[in-house]
Amino acid sequence: MGRYIGPVCRLCRREGMKLFLKGTRCDSPKCAIARDRGVPGMHQFRRGKPSEYAIRLREKQKVKRYYGIFERQFRKYFDMAARRPGNTGDALMAILERRLDNVVTRLGFALSRKQARQMIRHGHFLVNGHKVDIPSYLVRPGEVIKIKTREQSAKLAISNLAVEGMPPVPEWLDRISNDPPEGRVARMPSNQDISVPVTPQLIVELLSR
Ligand code: SF4
Repeated sequence: MGRYIGPVCRLCRREGMKLFLKGTRCDSPKCAIARDRGVPGMHQFRRGKPSEYAIRLREKQKVKRYYGIFERQFRKYFDMAARRPGNTGDALMAILERRLDNVVTRLGFALSRKQARQMIRHGHFLVNGHKVDIPSYLVRPGEVIKIKTREQSAKLAISNLAVEGMPPVPEWLDRISNDPPEGRVARMPSNQDISVPVTPQLIVELLSR
């Protein structure tokens, strides 16, 4: 019998790939994907080849889960992207990437988008000197994201920045300082900057029917 490692996270099991939703836990043995266990439940052998629709639907679910958003908001983002010139899939991913909770995570101030949302809702962040407590706020080039000067807020972000093994800051963002934690939006994200393991075109095909 193996050593008991506590509750195992199975969030990404249906997606069949690691989506890194739980910060440091994703690189620990508590990740079900890392443990490579089989499909759960009694009906594991009944799954046949997925239909075209199922493949497209799975891509959409993956993005929603990755950014932690619900269907209604996702549709809103899709409509925004469809009104933009150019490729709708790329525009959709750029909009999602600009969410403040994602930016706070990418800058390393939070270990996961879930934690970032909680920190933002508790009013720990300033954007261009103004308190923003809306995780879905879309950042723009030139905006400066700062942690509030409350000792407790800064402590949490600084301890997150000290965690090893977190992904590097993408090029469209700029971490100005670790102490006090401060970052800047250097430019709009391009599709080369987005590392989410999905094919946005499949989502466009699903939602444009
Ligand atoms: Fe959970 Fe992270 Fe593993 Fe996904 S990658 S199953 S979020 S621990």
